[in-house]
Amino acid sequence: MAKKETTTANLMQDRYDVVVIGGGTTGAAAAYHLSKAGVNNMLCLEMGRPGEGRTQPEHVRQDSPLTAEDESFYVPNFSGSRVFEGGSKGPRTIKMIVTLPPYEMLDGFADLFGWDGVKTYLDLAESGLKQQLDLANQYLPDPKQQIKQDGSLMVCEPDRADRLKQEYEFLQKLECPCEWWEEEHVVDAHGSAAGYVAGIWFPQHARIDSVTYAKVLLDAAVQSGSLTLKQECSPVVDVKDSEAGDHVVIQLADGELIQASQAIIATGGMYMDKYLAGILTPRYSYLAALPHRDPGPMGGMQAPNSANFFTLGFSHDWCVTDNFVRISGEDHYSGLKSPRAKQRCGRLAQWGWEKYPYLEFGADYPATYGIYSETPDFMPLVGKTTQNSGICYMVGCNAWGQASLSAAASLAPALLGYRDLSEAEKQTADLLSIRRFSARSTTPSS
Ligand SMILES: Cc1cc2nc3c(=O)[nH]c(=O)nc-3n(C[C@H](O)[C@H](O)[C@H](O)COP(=O)(O)OP(=O)(O)OC[C@H]3O[C@@H](n4cnc5c(N)ncnc54)[C@H](O)[C@@H]3O)c2cc1C
Repeated sequence: MAKKETTTANLMQDRYDVVVIGGGTTGAAAAYHLSKAGVNNMLCLEMGRPGEGRTQPEHVRQDSPLTAEDESFYVPNFSGSRVFEGGSKGPRTIKMIVTLPPYEMLDGFADLFGWDGVKTYLDLAESGLKQQLDLANQYLPDPKQQIKQDGSLMVCEPDRADRLKQEYEFLQKLECPCEWWEEEHVVDAHGSAAGYVAGIWFPQHARIDSVTYAKVLLDAAVQSGSLTLKQECSPVVDVKDSEAGDHVVIQLADGELIQASQAIIATGGMYMDKYLAGILTPRYSYLAALPHRDPGPMGGMQAPNSANFFTLGFSHDWCVTDNFVRISGEDHYSGLKSPRAKQRCGRLAQWGWEKYPYLEFGADYPATYGIYSETPDFMPLVGKTTQNSGICYMVGCNAWGQASLSAAASLAPALLGYRDLSEAEKQTADLLSIRRFSARSTTPSS
């Protein structure tokens, strides 16, 4: 889409205090926290609908070869906060919230950030999880249905049991709330068919309807009078600091220009400016929901309200919910090509049928995918690239980024200068700081 030049003629007269770009879970939470901090002249620009956004589909290459079969699967890219639609179309609450950094084991993370870094990450993810659950309990219309705090169990096959035990010992030393489960306990909760023999139980972990969560947080900010929500707007194509350095100019694809004192970029899966190229990698993530019936005496997983399960190394996560076994995994680097949804979702389904033979092999199942973006160290990019910039990033995560992104969003008022950071928040901001990668970095992050 051709960009229009910035001229004073097409600049809007009004200047917002803050424009939040992206109305997924991160942008919605950032807008909410800012509104609670008393910022009352804000705009949220969302090119889709809050929590179920569409992420720059026009930027996805359409030239990769698609078979006729694949084409029927091809839909625009949905944002990471979007999940199944509910009812027979698949379970809405898919988002477990885990507190682990996304390395196979904590020592991998410690190699990069030291054990202090591991502790800081676990603490910030735990506080992000708590904050998200508190807000969800306060604002979701039907918290019992929309939040399932049933814990999660990380499991392994016999040849990895020693590694899992070592991971548990690391977690214990770091005072992460979790328990070691022997085989008998794992089989009780999970059935015997899949052959998992040991587990680490995280009682706090939850699943939440994150689409509705994003909507209700934005609604709360709108109702307080502090936020205007512009949904299904023309996509934002450029955000830059003004030459005088006293405001930010946001350009939409249709040429509209919007001014703000500061902006937050919370666009999730797709990076939208050149400073993030090479740091953020867009990825597709796939989901399949296999119909789940009575498991019978052996090998079946329990429902309803069962835990979320995931493997050591996180190749798959799954749970029984709303008459489905919802399975995630099969992420793949997007390269802005068409997603390989049919193959990837098919492999998830195959995995489910192999692990749990009581499921009806070959039954029709809902499947979907979304886009998210990953940094080289799997943590979000948070903050400003230079102290004088008016642009604050909150992008990038991993396929289970809600906890760390929720912690980041709660920092929005401090990162934008409306209040000071506490000591704990400083550590969070330093660990997640965008300056750990930015070539534009002019000052140390602490
Ligand atoms: C299939 C899938 C499953 C996942 N499962 C989990 C999980 O179980 N647990 C977990 O914690 N995380 C999970 N994730 C990761 C997930 O993406 C994040 O945790 C979370 O959704 C990120 O929220 P966000 O608001 O940062 O980004 P998004 O949800 O992607 O929201 C970004 C918003 O910005 C809008 N936007 C983008 N570009 C523009 C633009 N140029 N102009 C205007 N608006 C724009 C989009 O429309 C979108 O609404 C999953 C991701 C995928 C794809």
